[in-house]
Amino acid sequence: MALVDRISGALDSGPGGVILTSVDALINWARGQSLWAFPMGTACCAMELIAASFSKFDFDRMGTFPRPDPRHTDVMILAGTITEKMRPAVRRLYEQMPDPKWVVAMGNCTVSGGIFYYDTYSVVRGADEFLPVDVYVAGCPPRPESLQDAIIQLRRLVAEESIAPGRRHEQTTTLPRPKAGGDR
Ligand code: SF4
Repeated sequence: MALVDRISGALDSGPGGVILTSVDALINWARGQSLWAFPMGTACCAMELIAASFSKFDFDRMGTFPRPDPRHTDVMILAGTITEKMRPAVRRLYEQMPDPKWVVAMGNCTVSGGIFYYDTYSVVRGADEFLPVDVYVAGCPPRPESLQDAIIQLRRLVAEESIAPGRRHEQTTTLPRPKAGGDR
């Protein structure tokens, strides 16, 4: 557990508490706890994306607020089928987001084209054909809890980043990392 995860406990310990951490850890903690979302709902998966913000699931408690303006957001949540006609508009909206920024691909259509993977001339076969996707959420459609779990996974990725160019912090994960050049 990073020291920053115990900040609230340290603050509760009364006067005289001292917090020692790195600038990277503090910035990544702040970024990870307030990943404002740009909801890019393009088809039926958008219903689950919308449901995630309603009171039953309450996305806001995770610090993830949907904002309609790409210039106010940190993470684009792509939810739904992306057509070739939409691709340039989605790319343009992504480019209008300020750095650092991340992308979540929600649902099979966004991940790989889904049911439109075969025999289609109009559907993009995966958002990663034109955007740097950070987290993939499988399902047709995925439930809101899956999207919330994706934000938790994204926080782990954010925690690996550094404000120093080219530097990263390795994190221990519960899943084995893929081997470079290994079997897929
Ligand atoms: S993955 Fe399923 S629910 Fe989501 S956009 Fe595609 S067809 Fe619709």
